Amino acid sequence: MERVNEIVLCSGNPGKIKEFEVLMPPGIRVRSLAELGMPLDLPETGNTLEANAEQKARYVFERTGLPCMADDTGLEVRALGGAPGVLSARYAGPAKDTVANMALLLSNMSGIADRSARFRTVIAYVDTQGLQLVEGEVKGMIIEAPRGSGGFGYDPVFLPEMSDLTFAELPLEKKNAVSHRAQAMWRLAQWLDEHHRRR
Ligand code: IMP
Repeated sequence: MERVNEIVLCSGNPGKIKEFEVLMPPGIRVRSLAELGMPLDLPETGNTLEANAEQKARYVFERTGLPCMADDTGLEVRALGGAPGVLSARYAGPAKDTVANMALLLSNMSGIADRSARFRTVIAYVDTQGLQLVEGEVKGMIIEAPRGSGGFGYDPVFLPEMSDLTFAELPLEKKNAVSHRAQAMWRLAQWLDEHHRRR
C-alpha cells in the first residue's frame, strides 16, 4: 500500500480548517481547496451527514485525483428529535447565519427542560482505493443564552459534558481534546496508520 503524505481538506470553513490542521497526524501535509483552485462551498445535497461528507470528498477527488477528506457535522438535540442535525448550517435559512441559527435553536427550546444534545461528525476519506467513513461524537447540553467568543457555529450555546465552560469559552486546545471532530480525526488517523502508512 502506498503511503499517504498529503490530504486535501475539503472544507471552506476557516474554523474547521484551523481545528483539522492541528489534529492532522504528523507527516501528512494539508492541501486546501483554495490552493487547488476548487470552490470553497462544495455541493452537499444529501439527507445524512454520511452522504454529505462522501459527496464533498468525492467531488474534490474526482477533480484532483488526490486523497481527500471531508467532514459533515450536525448538532443533534434530543428534545427536538435530533434537529437541527444534517440541517445545522441552514437551520434558520439558506444564509447559513450562525447568530440566527442559535437564536432559532434557543427559541425552539424555550421552556424545554431536557437540554441534552450532541455534536456528531462524520469524516469521509476518499482515495484511489475507495471510501472510508469514520465518526466522532461529544455529548453535552444546550444552555439558555450564548456564552463565549471562541470557536464557531453553535459553540457559544453548547456545554460539553464534564465542563463548566461552553465550547466558545474553552481555548482551542481544550476543545480539540474532546471534540466530535477530534475524535473522528483520531479514528481516521488510526485507520490511515493501519491501512496506508505502514512500511
Ligand atoms: P457543516 O459540517 O459544515 O455542514 O456544519 C454544519 C453546521 O454545524 C454549521 O452551522 C456549523 O456552524 C455547525 N458546526 C459544525 N461543527 C461545529 C462545532 O464544532 N461547533 C459548533 N458548531 C459546529
